[in-house]
Amino acid sequence: MNHLARKNIQTLKPYSSARHEFEGTAEIFLDANENPFDNGMNRYPDPLQTAVKNRIQEIKGIDPKNIFLGNGSDEAIDLLMRIFCEPGKDHIITLPPTYGMYQVSADICGVEVKKINLTADFQPDVKAVLAAANKHSKILFICSPNNPTGNAIDKNSIEELIQNFAGIVVIDEAYIDFSAGESATTFIGQYPNVVILQTFSKAWGMAGIRLGMAFASEEIISLFNKVKPPYNINVLTQKTALDGMADVEGVYKKVNTILTERVRLEELLPNFSFIQKVYPSDANFLLAKVDQPNELYQFLVEKGIVIRNRSTVVLCDGCLRFTIGQPKENNLLLAALEVWRN
Ligand SMILES: *Cc1c(COP(=O)(O)O)cnc(C)c1O
Repeated sequence: MNHLARKNIQTLKPYSSARHEFEGTAEIFLDANENPFDNGMNRYPDPLQTAVKNRIQEIKGIDPKNIFLGNGSDEAIDLLMRIFCEPGKDHIITLPPTYGMYQVSADICGVEVKKINLTADFQPDVKAVLAAANKHSKILFICSPNNPTGNAIDKNSIEELIQNFAGIVVIDEAYIDFSAGESATTFIGQYPNVVILQTFSKAWGMAGIRLGMAFASEEIISLFNKVKPPYNINVLTQKTALDGMADVEGVYKKVNTILTERVRLEELLPNFSFIQKVYPSDANFLLAKVDQPNELYQFLVEKGIVIRNRSTVVLCDGCLRFTIGQPKENNLLLAALEVWRN
């Protein structure tokens, strides 16, 4: 995949940190101009986050050699753009309606975005995507389960795109832990051009620590490591992630509560006459088509409940997005909707 990277990245000699150049064990570290007085964070963090990656391997079965960790998935998205896309020359392909960050990141980098809308049932138009691609199509972003529609993307379509798209195929699985569908991580050993994004921000309940994962071939991981800021994941984040991964069962229990609540809201929301449709969801949110979306959004804000107004997004006319909250929060939402009906 090196051949897809920008020329300046292919030839880049990366920054070599003090902790990088020394290999072995030592008692006394006088190499990095750190403060010698121990307070738990006076040392630079492990630049390759070995302990965190080893724990991810225990949980997900993915080899640390195939893992990159970023300051949120958003850092991985930004790095991908800067590794592979020559500004003003290359472009990315996105499948709207989808996550807004791909476009923003491309805009920041001066990279054009080609948009091939999803079909009416929110699946990719594989033929149209492949027809739109050329040698400057460096990255295809597929979000599955997709934000804001909530559905998982058909795995056969994903594989067909991976096999026939000449650039990098990114599958953003931020919501995979809420989905009954299978993760695309099984494609990692199989296809060198695949990048899977996952995150600690949703199911893992750690949006505040900013930690995202990218799983890919060793070749792509090396490119990430070459371009990333040397100490991109700080000591506190690495420590908190390890603490958060100690109790996997506890995390699954909360995910299950969220899933039970999603089923409850999927059943109850369509009872309101002003809710025309609730779309099927593989995520921790529901997209619903409603009468008077702007007025309802504003009404809920006045009741102290903030949801996401997606009514101006392509293929999402009249749609609002509801994140699944705690049971008592969802009850308050339902009560507010009851007031709105009357
Ligand atoms: C929430 C979300 C993310 C998470 O981004 P982080 O930077 O890891 O918090 C990534 N992709 C999608 C589609 C999301 O909705």
